[in-house]
This record gives sequence, structure tokens and C-alpha cells, in this order.
Amino acid sequence: SAKQNGRNTYRHYEPAMGEQAMRLLLLQQGLQEALTHDTLTLHFQPKFDGATQRLTGAEALIRWNHPTLGIVPPSEFIPISERSGQIIEIGYWVVRHVCRQLREWERQGMPDLVIAVNLSPKQLAHPDIVEGMHAITREAGISPRRIIFEITESVAMDNARMTGEVIRAFHRVGFEVAIDDFGTGYSSLAYLQQFRVQQLKIDRFFTNGLDTHGEEGEAIVSAIVALAHSLKMQVVAEGVETESQMRKLRDLSCDQVQGYLLARPLPSDEFERFVRAQQQQPDAPGLS
Ligand code: C2E
Ligand code: MG
Ligand code: MG
Ligand code: MG
Repeated sequence: SAKQNGRNTYRHYEPAMGEQAMRLLLLQQGLQEALTHDTLTLHFQPKFDGATQRLTGAEALIRWNHPTLGIVPPSEFIPISERSGQIIEIGYWVVRHVCRQLREWERQGMPDLVIAVNLSPKQLAHPDIVEGMHAITREAGISPRRIIFEITESVAMDNARMTGEVIRAFHRVGFEVAIDDFGTGYSSLAYLQQFRVQQLKIDRFFTNGLDTHGEEGEAIVSAIVALAHSLKMQVVAEGVETESQMRKLRDLSCDQVQGYLLARPLPSDEFERFVRAQQQQPDAPGLS
């Protein structure tokens, strides 16, 4: 322990750990308040057809502005909410909010977009998850076909039997499923065949590799596309940041693309303006 390492070390460590514990506590309390007062928000990052660059849908990404700590990234508070169990409530909030947004967009005459929603491990393992999500869409009058749930590859492979059952249950009620961050976990191709998801999302590490790893980078993406297509899955490339990545992805027949080059995650009003502008001038946003 720190104490055994001597008095100075002990003094050095204690305040730092206290601060960490304090931040954790503040974040957990803050999340509860954010849920109670409905102050979490969602941003929507547009997704595009890889060949035509027409808008195909969006990924919902949670955002939180803490009253005193400021913007806390999901990479910090989602893992905390996983450990505290708050992720279950947050996850239902996300889908309720997506449904509300879809109803509003329907009313505004926006196109019928499919929205991707991220699920984390605890949500996937929650016994009522499929029925819970289905009940929310049913009450909101939104077809489950408008939502595709993203499951991170490493999580999917961690408990493949359970994941397979949950995926099949989602499919039975009409939701689609994607494997997120594909290529970063250990991929069992046998499980992939069993899962029969609609989309594979190539992790942005590999998208980046198209620029930084030359022919090998292209070979990897090409192999993922071939694998996905042979299993009748669509491929989505995440984290597209350059025109050269965009061109290579198009040449490699990647079905959909998503990334800062094309559009950042946007608050709903900016997303609406973006969609309208797209409808008026459907030229490729990335390839000029
Ligand atoms: P993810 O699902 O893999 O989402 C992609 C992340 O990459 C997002 O970060 C997005 O803003 C970012 N991104 C998009 N395009 C680019 C690009 O061109 N370059 C770079 N460098 N980054 C790009 P974000 O919003 O911070 O979310 C981080 C992670 O938090 C997500 O990774 C997801 O795992 C999790 N997350 C976000 N929202 C939710 C949610 O509602 N529920 C759950 N369970 N997890 C969520
Ligand atoms: Mg995702
Ligand atoms: Mg991802
Ligand atoms: Mg991720």
C-alpha cells in the first residue's frame, strides 16, 4: 500500500485519490439530477451513403453539461453510469428522447431517417432490455425499424451466447443491430456469422489506416468489406476525416460513411438545418 512506501508517498497520494473520489461522487449525483430534471441532451451525427453521399440516417450521441464541472464527455460518464447501474435509466432516456425527436421530425416533414443508438454492456445484460425498448417505441408510436442498436464488438464477443440471444430478440420485435468499433476487439468470425447483424461499423483506427498504412491499410478495410458483404451485412466506416479516405472507401464499396469530414455530431436544431440543406443541394459534402 501507499502507506508502506513511506510517509511522503502516503501524503502524496491521499489528496489525489480524494479528488478522484470526489469527482466520481459529483458525477454520480449530477447524473441523477440530470435524469430527474431532463438536462441530458443528444447530438446527431449524420451518416451517408458511401457511393452517392446521400444522407442515410444519424447516430445519436449523448451529451452532458454539468452545472459546475462543465461538459463531461460520454467516455467519462458512461463507464461511471455502468458501474453505478444508472446506465439502465440513461439508456431508456436516450431511446425515449430519440422517439420524441423522430415524432417531431415526422411532424416537420423530415425524411424517414434511421437513428443509431449505442448500448453498453450492462444494458445488453439487463433482462428486460428488449421488452423495455420495445415498450418505449410502442408508446411513442415509432416503428422499431427506425432504430438500429450499436453493440461494441468486444462486448459482443465477451459473452457471445447471451449477445446472440439479445440480438435475435431485438430482431424479433423489429429493431436492427450493428456491431460497433469492429476490428478492435478480438473477432471470432464464427460468432459474427451467428449474430447476423445488419451493419458492421469499422473502427476509426482502420479508417485512419487508409491514409497512414498505405496498401496494407486498404487491404484490411477491403477484407472487412468482403467479409461483411459475404455475410449480407452493410459496412459503415467511422471517423472519416479526409477526402482521400472518402475516395478509398468509395472505391472499396463501403456502404456508409460517417465522420468529421462530412459532418460533426450536431444539436437537433442544427441537424434539422443540415438535413434541409442536404435536401436542397444534395451534392457530395466531402468530395468537392
Ligand atoms: P462510438 O459509438 O464509437 O461513437 C463514435 C465517437 O467518435 C463519438 O464520440 C463521435 O463524436 C466521435 N467521432 C465521430 N466522427 C469522428 C471523426 O471523424 N473523428 C474523430 N476523432 N471522432 C469522431 P463521443 O460522442 O464522444 O462518444 C464516445 C462513445 O461514448 C461512443 O463511441 C459510445 O461508445 C459512447 N456513447 C455515446 N453516446 C452514448 C449513449 O447514448 N449510450 C451509450 N451506452 N453509450 C454512448
Ligand atoms: Mg457508436
Ligand atoms: Mg464506434
Ligand atoms: Mg466506441
